Amino acid sequence: MKKNLGHPVFKVLADIAAENHIEAYIIGGYVRDIFLNRPSKDIDIVVLGNGINFAELAGKALKSKVAVFKSFGTAMLKYKELELEFVGARKESYRSDSRKPIVENGTIEDDQLRRDFTINALAISLNKENFGQLIDPFKGVEDLEQQLIRTPLDPEITFSDDPLRMMRAIRFATQLNFKIDEQALAAIAKQKERISILSKERITDELNKIILSPVPSIGFKHLFNTGLLHLIFPQMTALYGVEIINGKGHKDNFYHTLQVLDNICEVTDDLWLRWAAILHDIAKPPTKRFEENHGWTFHGHEDKGARMVPQIFAQLKLPLNEKMKLVQKLVQLHLRPIVLAQEVVTDSAVRRLLFDAGEDIDSLMMLCNADVTTKNEYKVKKYRNNFELVKQKLKDVEERDKLRNWQPPVTGTDIMEIFGLTAGKEVGLIKNAIREAILEGEITNSYDEALAFMLVKGKELGLLPVTNPSK
Ligand code: ATP
Repeated sequence: MKKNLGHPVFKVLADIAAENHIEAYIIGGYVRDIFLNRPSKDIDIVVLGNGINFAELAGKALKSKVAVFKSFGTAMLKYKELELEFVGARKESYRSDSRKPIVENGTIEDDQLRRDFTINALAISLNKENFGQLIDPFKGVEDLEQQLIRTPLDPEITFSDDPLRMMRAIRFATQLNFKIDEQALAAIAKQKERISILSKERITDELNKIILSPVPSIGFKHLFNTGLLHLIFPQMTALYGVEIINGKGHKDNFYHTLQVLDNICEVTDDLWLRWAAILHDIAKPPTKRFEENHGWTFHGHEDKGARMVPQIFAQLKLPLNEKMKLVQKLVQLHLRPIVLAQEVVTDSAVRRLLFDAGEDIDSLMMLCNADVTTKNEYKVKKYRNNFELVKQKLKDVEERDKLRNWQPPVTGTDIMEIFGLTAGKEVGLIKNAIREAILEGEITNSYDEALAFMLVKGKELGLLPVTNPSK
């Protein structure tokens, strides 16, 4: 099969190959993505010989600067929107204690053989005699048609040599919605312990790619069924299963979590909102109780869950920054709109929710909508209708009371100046009383009403103003 290589850059590379009598091939993801009609900007070029020298020649011809990575034997250049990476064809052999292979110069076949999956081992010739010719020794195109992730070599060897490939297999299956060959799946289950030689960062990098896929539950089910998830993220596997006491069971929180995750992926591409979905019920296993009168309860799972977030982020080497804080906040608050939606929606409850969620109220509502996974159509309708009501109220209250980024209308400094106080308990008491009065709707969120309220509160505490408080 010949492929039409549309981009003029390939002609330039072919001329260099011909003039210098070097064989060159496009290989890997770029070729795969041609067949999948997924436009890609990263092009890997393999040459029989020195990849860096070839890159220097290409850099001259394309008038592009070449970045050389000597220790890897690779070089990279940017040309227009493309990123080209050059490497010499390699033959690899592995030792058991490292993912770094022993590398020798090899043929194009050797180089294809070291690739992880048949669909990633496709090459296209850039040589004069067969320009555009597809080289597909492992039936990669057939696997693309069958939508199958398969390894060119015995999968047990492939995964044992470089265990990152286990994560990559599951990641590609999730991104592309492909099946994983049964032998390969069995080999992952068998070789799963090898994951321990990878750095946490590499694992999480792949995990995040799974999470950013259209339907991440595909990947999580593979991770769970192969036993990898137990090793990399045991808190999540603890969600699995249903316990029954006195004929009463609870829902399987693992599959519920996956459903919530898939649901939120329909409305947002934000990695951190997706993480919030994964973690929203993470403390259900450690808070689970069976109570004679109530059946199964998970009291406080939102508080404990929020406390678990930093520990899980650290364990997975996710960033311990404001993104973590956002996830933590969403886990902490995830029950609030649901509780609201089940009751009569009062203004003060909505004001409190808006006050606590602040800028993240829309994200919180998104999470809560995704959290409705009941199969009962009636309940779904009821919850969704109530959510709409909560949303409408949120809008009304926000317009009226401006609570989204709430700053106290009367500050601690104001209170100290007016009553001639130094920082202390009384200032805090008055501040809290003002906030509560606003949230309860006793006064509006304005300076004048807050000031009047403050004077009354001060009087109750035996305080009198020492300055004229009007502004
Ligand atoms: P994506 O850009 O979506 O991650 P890709 O296939 O281009 O997909 P890269 O990580 O850039 O992914 O890898 C480029 C190519 O290098 C792959 O197509 C594959 O042929 C090869 N490759 C990458 N990682 C491995 C690995 N761990 N083992 C074997 N081959 C690999």
